[in-house]
Amino acid sequence: MLFEQLRLDVIRVGIEMLEKGLTIGTGGNISARCPDGEHFLITPSGMPYHTLKPEDIVMVNQATGEMEGPRKPSIEIHLHWKTYLARPDVGGIVHVHSPIASALAAARKPLPVILDVCAFNFRGQVEVAEYGMSGSVELAENVVKALGQRNAVLMANHGSLAVGKNVDVALDRCELLEKASHAYLLSQLVGGAVALSQETIDSLLSGVGKTYGQQPAPGGDKKA
Ligand SMILES: [Zn+2]
Repeated sequence: MLFEQLRLDVIRVGIEMLEKGLTIGTGGNISARCPDGEHFLITPSGMPYHTLKPEDIVMVNQATGEMEGPRKPSIEIHLHWKTYLARPDVGGIVHVHSPIASALAAARKPLPVILDVCAFNFRGQVEVAEYGMSGSVELAENVVKALGQRNAVLMANHGSLAVGKNVDVALDRCELLEKASHAYLLSQLVGGAVALSQETIDSLLSGVGKTYGQQPAPGGDKKA
């Protein structure tokens, strides 16, 4: 089967999303861009994550929308499709209904950069996409617009979405968005959070953000 490992990654991330309490039941959806650069894989509509098999994951042609597989894709296929078209850097997308980020989305309040990890991961304030009905092209367009070049977005009266180079990074960002939203709400009890300035965010992104983690050894394989 084509892209079997990527299909297994999508299923695993679906189960982890549930276990982390970022959604319930069959809510949320996950997709991964295929290494051929022409297709993406997306979770099917309304199937419990722990029952999914690789063949249940739907493969979609990015140019034509043609689908392969026996299942109907997630109703949020436009959300994923339009995000891939707008963001060639994105390899994985996770959409969740986590409770605290959803509280901000319901109140239509953006999440400022209140923790430095937010600067590295989200690349700026997490904006609120205007409301659109679930599954609509309008919702997808609103989300793409509010996401811009950042890595997470709140969806008015609905939930949130995060992107990354793969599905694991996107899931981690959904979890971070939930924890940062929690910190933001708690900070209201002690006088309110102080958002980092744009100057500080830029310095973080050009400094620590570029050197954090394991870098290739000098003279090592530059392709790594
Ligand atoms: Zn949803």
